[in-house]
Parts: sequence; structure tokens; C-alpha cells
Amino acid sequence: MQTNFTEVQLRDPEIAVSNQILRSCVHCGMCTATCPTFLLLGDELDSPRGRIYLIKDMLEQARPATEEVVRHVDRCLSCLSCMTTCPSGVNYMHLVDHARVHIEKTYRRPWHERLLRNTLAAVLPRPGLLRLALAGAKLARPFSRLIPGQSRLANRARAMLQLAPASLPGPSPIGGARVHAAQGTRRGRVALLAGCAQQVLSPSINESTIRLLTRLGIEVVVAKGAGCCGALVHHMGRHDPALDAARANLTAWGRELDNGGLDAVVINTSGCGTVVKDYGFLFRDLPERDRAAQVSALAMDITEYLSRIGYAPTRAAPELTVAYHSACSLQHGQQIRNEPKALLSRAGFRVVEPGEGHICCGSAGTYNLMQPEIAAQLRERKLGNILATKPDLLAAGNIGCLTQLSGAGLPTVHTVELLDWMAGGPKPEALG
Ligand code: SF4
Ligand code: SF4
Repeated sequence: MQTNFTEVQLRDPEIAVSNQILRSCVHCGMCTATCPTFLLLGDELDSPRGRIYLIKDMLEQARPATEEVVRHVDRCLSCLSCMTTCPSGVNYMHLVDHARVHIEKTYRRPWHERLLRNTLAAVLPRPGLLRLALAGAKLARPFSRLIPGQSRLANRARAMLQLAPASLPGPSPIGGARVHAAQGTRRGRVALLAGCAQQVLSPSINESTIRLLTRLGIEVVVAKGAGCCGALVHHMGRHDPALDAARANLTAWGRELDNGGLDAVVINTSGCGTVVKDYGFLFRDLPERDRAAQVSALAMDITEYLSRIGYAPTRAAPELTVAYHSACSLQHGQQIRNEPKALLSRAGFRVVEPGEGHICCGSAGTYNLMQPEIAAQLRERKLGNILATKPDLLAAGNIGCLTQLSGAGLPTVHTVELLDWMAGGPKPEALG
């Protein structure tokens, strides 16, 4: 694709990167075939190619974002299905990230959107605040259907209350920063990203991860000062808060790297994993660039790490059919497709893959709160495909997907909880 940036514009490193990305697109449109929003809405401007044109025009003209650009970019899930499909290697992720930062700087959203985005940015990354907010939402949940109207505001309020879990687990007894010693001879040492929202919504995921790894002889460090990966605000175009969150992790993990070393930074929420693997790019022009590149190189999804060190079950699996839902951030963001399925099969489960596995479930970070109508359609479509496989349970490697797909009468469990169970851990609570 030909671009028309001036030499002065190209001196801006962000523009220079986007220029290279835009020039690699050959307008072939193959990406439209696998884009969830194009499938649902049928509008070229809600396809990757259409959004690329909108972003190109906005950046070339160096003009503030218009309502039209914001509408179509906001509808993008950042599922990155288009990157998997694209034959030209277009890095849509970095392009849309740049567009979101430009939108955030140049576009004033209506008051209720600003309020919602500010609230989500303040609450979600802070486990204490999130716990309080969810306790309140739980009380208000029965009244969600009484919210009148079909306005965006009403739909969002209903979506927020309906997504709030009916019951919330208590804080994990092994939560917080600490070192979890390896059992037996120590074979390795990793840092675990304990995350933010996940430790409130499902602390058993970290517990399973720690149990399984320590049983396999791996020392697990939950580093002091590490917290949210920054993804939640990053996807809102809030560049500086995202960098601040990432910086805290670089400092915390850097300390561990310098004192004891780390074989990997293990992540069990694939949405976070995609962003941590991108720290090297995010900090490419900043003083922390070397540390960020080091951390990105060490970042591994839990299934990637288990595949590397070896996993074997210690008990016979019950005859259960597991529908494996491949989170977009895992299959498209990190190109990890086979490891989770291979591990679940190794654990003894019958693994089935629902149709349209490449299509997003509608979770996408805070997307199901910001775009509840599209997210609900994607959820129904995904659940239809999953239930058609007649599974006993659903497994996925991302808390966002598990939350989005819960409540349909099918137990939803993180992959690592099943692997831990078959290697001597407790039966996942969701299985009764
Ligand atoms: S990231 Fe997903 S929703 Fe966005 S343009 Fe690409 S395929 Fe479509
Ligand atoms: S598939 Fe790739 S090259 Fe083709 S239009 Fe989409 S982004 Fe551009």
C-alpha cells in the first residue's frame, strides 16, 4: 500500500513504524474472511482492511480522530485473527494500538463513556477495588433486567451487572508476593505473573499453577511489586499508564533476574501474555529497552512452559469430553495452538475442538462491557459451536473467555486446573 507521510512526519518513531506496517498491506482483503466484526456487521469499515484505510487516512492527515474512525476502531476486538490470516505479515496489532493512542489524545468521548473507561481503568487492575465493586454488582445483579431502554448506556449497565459473578471466591490463602519452594530437587525457577482481575475472579487458577509447577520441581516466585501487565489500559489507548504498569513488572522481575535468575516468566492469562511478550516493542526507545526485551524473551504461557519441561499425569482421568476453546490472545496473539490440546490429551481427557475456533467469543478484555451488543452475539455463536460438540466441560487459558462463556450450564475451567487435577491436585470446584 502506498503511503503519503511527509519527511517531518516520518521523523516521529510511532509514525515510522505505522508507515512500515501500512506499506506491507497489499489490500488483498483475505483478512476480512476471518474478522468477527465483518462477519457480523458486513461493513468493510468493520473489517481489518477497512480499519487500516481509516487509520492510514487519520495518521497521514495528522487530524484528530473523527466519530466515524472511533466507532469502527472501537468495534475492533483486537482479537488478531486478521494477523493469523494475513499472507503479507501485516502487524495489525501495532497499527491499531497506535490508532488507539491517537484517538485517546485527540478525541473527546461523551461523558458516560469517559466515566465508564475511567472507572474500568481505575478498578480492574486493583484487586482490592475490584473485589469491592463486584460485591456491589452482585447485590445489584437481580435488578439488571429492570434497567429500562436500549440505549448504549443502558446496555452497558446491564452487561456489567450480568457479567458480575453470582458468587465470589475468597482471597487465596497463598496469594501475595512470596517464593513457593520446589518439591524435591529444584529443576528450575520462574516468576509467575499473578495478574489482577484473575486473582479476584478465580484465585484457584494461580493456586493450580503454583501447585503443579512446584510439584514438578520448579520454584515459583510471585515477585514483590509485580501487578497488572498493563493490557487493560493499553487497549484503551492509555499509553503512559500502560507503560507504568509494565515498568513496575520490569523492576520486580528484574530484581529476581539479578538475584537468583529466572528460567521463564510464566503467564496463565493469555491476554496478559500477549502484552508481556510485546514489552520489548513497547519499550524499544526507552531506557528500559534491554530489560524489556529480556523479559519478553522469557515470557511463556503456562502450557508453553509445561510442554518444555514435560508433564505427565499421576492419576487416571475420568471419562470426560473437554471442549477446548482457544483464546484469541493465545492462538492469534501468541500463535500457541497445539500445546494446550496436547497437554489435555496427555492428561487423559477426550479433547474436542468446536467449529469456528478462530472466531472470538466476544470477551476481549473490556470489550464485552464496552460493546455489549456485538459481544453478546459472539458469545451466542461461540456457545452454539461449543455445545454442538456435546462436551462435559469447557477449558480455556484465559480468564476473560472463561467469564464470558460461563453461565450457559457448562462448567468452565482453566486448562491448568485440569492438568493440576490429573497430576495430584484437587478436582476443580466448577466440576462439583
Ligand atoms: S483484530 Fe479481530 S476484530 Fe479487529 S480487525 Fe482484526 S480480526 Fe477484525
Ligand atoms: S490480509 Fe493482510 S495484506 Fe491483505 S488486506 Fe488484510 S491486512 Fe492487508
